[in-house]
Amino acid sequence: MPTPPKKRGRPKEERRRSGVRKRTSTPIAGKEFNYVLQLSEADTRLLRRYRAALVQGAAGFAETSYNYLFDNPDIADVMYAFERDGGNVGELVRSMLAHKLELLSGEIDEAATRRSEAIGRSHYKRGVKPVWMLGAYRLFLAHLQDLVASDPQIDTGDREAVETALIKMIFRDLAVMTEAYWRAAVDQLTDQRDELGAEQFLASEILGNIPQLLWTVDIENNSISYASPGTQAFCQRELEAPIPCFYRIQGSERERVLTAWQQVIDNEAVQLEVLMQPGEDEAPAGRWFRMAFYPTANRRGRVLRVHCLMEDVTDGHSDRERLEQLSTQDEITGLVNRALWYDRLGSALAVARRNPGAAVAVMVLDINQFKMYNDSLGHQAGDDLLRQIAGRLQKLLRDTDTLARLGSDEFGIILPFVQDAERAVERVAGEVIAALSAPFTYQQRELCLSSAIGISVYPQHGEDAHTLASHADSAMYRAKWNSAPYLFYQSDAKQPSASEHLQFSGQLHGALEREEFELHYQPKIDIASGQIRGAEALLRWQHPQQGLVLPKRFIPIAEQLGMIAPITDWVLNTALEQSKLWSMDGTPMPVSVNVSARSFQSPGLVGRIRQALKNAGLDGSSLEIEITEGMLMTDLEAGARTLDSLSQLGVSIAIDDFGTGYSSLSYLKRLPIDTLKIDRSFLEDMLSSPRDAAVVRSIIELGHNLECLVVAEGVEEEAIRLMLLELGCDLLQGFHISKPLPNKGFGEWLSLSTH
Ligand code: C2E
Ligand code: MG
Ligand code: MG
Repeated sequence: MPTPPKKRGRPKEERRRSGVRKRTSTPIAGKEFNYVLQLSEADTRLLRRYRAALVQGAAGFAETSYNYLFDNPDIADVMYAFERDGGNVGELVRSMLAHKLELLSGEIDEAATRRSEAIGRSHYKRGVKPVWMLGAYRLFLAHLQDLVASDPQIDTGDREAVETALIKMIFRDLAVMTEAYWRAAVDQLTDQRDELGAEQFLASEILGNIPQLLWTVDIENNSISYASPGTQAFCQRELEAPIPCFYRIQGSERERVLTAWQQVIDNEAVQLEVLMQPGEDEAPAGRWFRMAFYPTANRRGRVLRVHCLMEDVTDGHSDRERLEQLSTQDEITGLVNRALWYDRLGSALAVARRNPGAAVAVMVLDINQFKMYNDSLGHQAGDDLLRQIAGRLQKLLRDTDTLARLGSDEFGIILPFVQDAERAVERVAGEVIAALSAPFTYQQRELCLSSAIGISVYPQHGEDAHTLASHADSAMYRAKWNSAPYLFYQSDAKQPSASEHLQFSGQLHGALEREEFELHYQPKIDIASGQIRGAEALLRWQHPQQGLVLPKRFIPIAEQLGMIAPITDWVLNTALEQSKLWSMDGTPMPVSVNVSARSFQSPGLVGRIRQALKNAGLDGSSLEIEITEGMLMTDLEAGARTLDSLSQLGVSIAIDDFGTGYSSLSYLKRLPIDTLKIDRSFLEDMLSSPRDAAVVRSIIELGHNLECLVVAEGVEEEAIRLMLLELGCDLLQGFHISKPLPNKGFGEWLSLSTH
């Protein structure tokens, strides 16, 4: 039996929400039917005239109709269903009959058409097929033909015309009903299509906006039968079945994905987390995705389609990883990690609280040059360096102390003491500094490091783990800013917090464009004759709120932020421009420019120096570059190449702060070095400390042996000048001669001292 069209399952409310409006089609035009059937006034008049005769025997025909309905099993089923739904078949037959009898009145206007139309539509709704109506009308017509042929009330001469009019009326009614039936079907299908369209639109809008990726694989044809827009964007190439992003999965993960695919083909839903290779402009670590495969199988369990849902779970993944690590160690160094360190600090404090007079010291240690080495020599070197540092630190601590790696280049130490904590922690800080001051080695390179240490002590500086750790942290920042090896937390001191540090860094970013940098110049004079031999350019930052900021505070940050190259260029160009101006007055005034480690290692340095000389129209003899020993030791080969190129340009090279680093003398001999600048720290105590005096003497001798000029920097007193003169030092720089001065002040100083 044919399935009657089902009632749409979606309630009106839902349809309204999905934005689909039910259509109302134009009514059937009855006139058209009248025209094709040639139904005329004459026909209707005739029918009206004989209506009484034709209506006879209607009751008997009702029975025929009943029988017809229930003799045909298909129709009977529909009738039973109609009754089950609360309908009344008797009523129905009566109304059908009434409709048929109405035809006999010969009405062919639009109101009659509407009635026929309504019946056609309701037949569609109830599942009453037009063909069944055809049967019912055949019976009706047969009944009427009998009447017309035999009824004496109908004039013999009219019989044929009456029969024709009846046939036309029945045709008309059947045709209007069938058209209405068809229209109802079309309307319903159109509604369904619109609803489906709206649903599809909604679905593709959702799929286009959710972060998850979705695609469906047709297993039979091994083709992608659906892919959400995100999938296309993620894969960035033609989608290949069955896993379009397969090429982006990390090599080591692919095996797992293939195994999962095998499982889903065996009709099992599978989920797994997979590491994807980074796309363009993404972090090199790659991202984690959860891939979920859901099979759709036929009744026999054969998988026809597989739906794949993919979701970026990197953040959750790292959270979980972090949780897993909570109880474990730092991967690189094997030390305790931050979480455990906090935990141990809490325990140490709990013990201390129960023991009056007990103290706990917290040290936070940051490695100053770590980032530089890590960036220039690679992560492996960085990791190796961290392990070496951890090894050295571990050696000098007691079993009861806790050493942890807190973050990238940050270490934390907990020292539980009984008494005199401050003195004890200072001793440990001294040992830590000493332990880190000997060079490290990585693949035969010597790497020099320094550190900044911040210290806080329980109970003076805080009662709980969080306060103590954050106070040690800010003391560490203060130590870094002040270039101090270590500092205790001071509640009244200005503690630059991490956020202030960030803000400072942010301001540094625009300083060059805002023209906040300026150069001060400090003269270098011949110690014997007092003649001026050049000037060192020293950078200052005119900070909008903090005033003049000295280079030690911002150069390391500029290096870290990768901003040092444009700053060095600016210093070179400005200093050379200034040198040219002074030289035009008659005295050649070579300038010395300090080059930081980063700048020195950058491959473009020589080219940029050449350009700066060209810009100023000066030759290399107008410029001296100051570097420190540590910079050479990082990569001796590359360092030597840079120095060779510079000396070919005629640029002089000075080793700054000489004596504080770990220069290998045999290397120094091979490098084109022109000047050694004795570090100020040796000169400070030279008068009182014979040891320092001996160091100065030997540096001077060494410099002369290497055919270098020796400059003493930071000379503040005449007595030291005299002693240096006696030792044969060549040049002098220091407050005793002049402080670093802005160019105007320097110009004035120059004209005073030369006249
Ligand atoms: P440096 O190259 O060793 O410069 C000498 C430092 O000693 C200068 O500090 C100078 O002001 C100071 N000084 C000179 N004579 C005396 C003295 O008699 N007594 C005392 N107490 N100090 C004296 P400043 O200007 O603060 O610079 C510090 C360091 O910053 C410089 O040390 C240099 O390493 C770096 N620096 C300065 N300008 C630049 C630059 O343009 N680029 C780079 N990369 N570093 C720079
Ligand atoms: Mg210098
Ligand atoms: Mg110096």
